[in-house]
Amino acid sequence: MNKKTVKDLDLKGKRVLLRADFNVPIKDGEITDDNRIKQALPTIKYILEKGGKLIIFSHLSRVKNISDLETKSIRPIVVRLSELLGRKIVFIKAIQSKNLKTEIDKLKNGEILMFENTRFADVQINTETKECTIIKCESKNNPNLGAYWASLGDIFINDAFGTAHRSHASNVGIATNINETAIGLLMENELNTLANAMENTKHPFTAILGGSKVSDKIGVIEALATKADYLLIGGAMTFTFLKALGKNIGKSLYEEDKLDLAKKLLEKYSEKLILPLDVTCTKEFSNDSTPYIFDVDKIPNNLMGLDIGPKTVNLFAETIKKSKTIIWNGPMGVFEMNKFALGTIGVCNSISLLKGNDAITIVGGGDAAAAAIGLGFSDSFTHISTGGGASLEFLEGKELPALKVIDEK
Ligand code: ADP
Ligand code: MG
Repeated sequence: MNKKTVKDLDLKGKRVLLRADFNVPIKDGEITDDNRIKQALPTIKYILEKGGKLIIFSHLSRVKNISDLETKSIRPIVVRLSELLGRKIVFIKAIQSKNLKTEIDKLKNGEILMFENTRFADVQINTETKECTIIKCESKNNPNLGAYWASLGDIFINDAFGTAHRSHASNVGIATNINETAIGLLMENELNTLANAMENTKHPFTAILGGSKVSDKIGVIEALATKADYLLIGGAMTFTFLKALGKNIGKSLYEEDKLDLAKKLLEKYSEKLILPLDVTCTKEFSNDSTPYIFDVDKIPNNLMGLDIGPKTVNLFAETIKKSKTIIWNGPMGVFEMNKFALGTIGVCNSISLLKGNDAITIVGGGDAAAAAIGLGFSDSFTHISTGGGASLEFLEGKELPALKVIDEK
C-alpha cells in the first residue's frame, strides 16, 4: 500500500488527532462488546510511546434528538479505554468549545484527551425551546467543522476503518484541512489483509454469502464471483435464488425485483454457485416458534425459512474443508435467535477446522463479524474485520473516500 502510516511520521511533541472507531454496542450505559476499543490500542500505544500529545475522537451510533446527547455520550468508552491503557484521559464533554482548545494546549507529550461523540455535530439544540434541528455537520462533512477540528492538531491519523467508506467531517474533512496525514495500524492491517486475499489469492477460494438481502450484496457478489472458485449462498438471500429457480419458498423473505438478477447469476456462475439443500423453517419470526427442517423442494406455504439446514451445513463443510482462502459476508440465518443460529455455528465450526492449515479465513460483514465473535469463534479466523460496510466496499473494488485523502508515501 502506498499510503503513509503512523510509523512514517515524527510524532514527538506534536498534537496528534486520532480518528478511532469506537462505535461499540452500549446497553444501559454498559459496553457489551469492547472489541473495537481493543483493536485501536496498538496505534494509541505507538503514538504515546513516540511522545505525541494525543487527541482521540470517534462517532458513536447516530444522533437524532436531545436525549441522544445523554445516551450516546462517549464517556463510557473514555472510562473503558482509560482502564485498558492504565492511564488517565482528560475528557472534554463537548465537540467544539473554547475549553477544548485550552485543554489541548495544556497536554504534555504522552498525554491523552478525548472529546465527545463526533455525531453530536449532527444536531443543533435551541437552548430556550429545547427544539432539536438535524444539521448533519459531521455526517455531511460540513467544511467549517472539518477545518475547526483540523485546527486543533498538527497531524491527523485515521484508524477508523469502519467509517472509511463515508465522507464525514471527522475523517475526510480533517484530512483535507491539515498538513500531515497518515493511517493507523488497525486501518493498515485491515487494508493489507483484504488486499492480499484479493490480489495474491490462494486457491481454492470460497466466498460465503448470506445476510438479509441480495440487493445489499450485489456489488460484492459480482466482485467475488469473478475471483472465487465457489460461492456458498445462505441467509435470506437464499430464497431469492430458490424462487428464481421456480421453487416454492413459502413465507420466506425474498426480493421480487432481484429475481431476474438472481436468474442471471445462476446462469453465469452455475459451476460456482452452491445453494442450500435444506432450510430450517418456522411459522413466526420468533425464537419461541418451533423449527422444522425441510428440503428446499418441500417448503410448505405457511412457513418461512430462517436458517440453512443440517444437510446444507455438511454440504458447505465439504467445500470449506478444501479451501485455502475464505471470505465470509452475511450470517447463514437469523443467528440472533439461538434456534436459527445453528447454520451460522455450523459454518463457523467448519472454518475453525482450517486453523493451522495455512488457509486465510476472513469475516467481512458487520453482522457476520458480530455472529462470529458472539458465538465464540473469535479465534477461529485469521481476520475478523472491524468494518462491515467498509470491508464490503473495499472487496467490491470501490475507492474508500477516507483513504483517498490520506497522504501517499
Ligand atoms: P452482514 O452485516 O454480515 O453483511 P447483513 O446485514 O446482510 O449481514 O444481514 C444480517 C441479517 O440478516 C441478520 O440480522 C440476520 O438475522 C438476517 N438474516 C439472515 N438470514 C435470514 C433469513 N433467512 N430470514 C430473515 N433474516 C435473515
Ligand atoms: Mg449488516
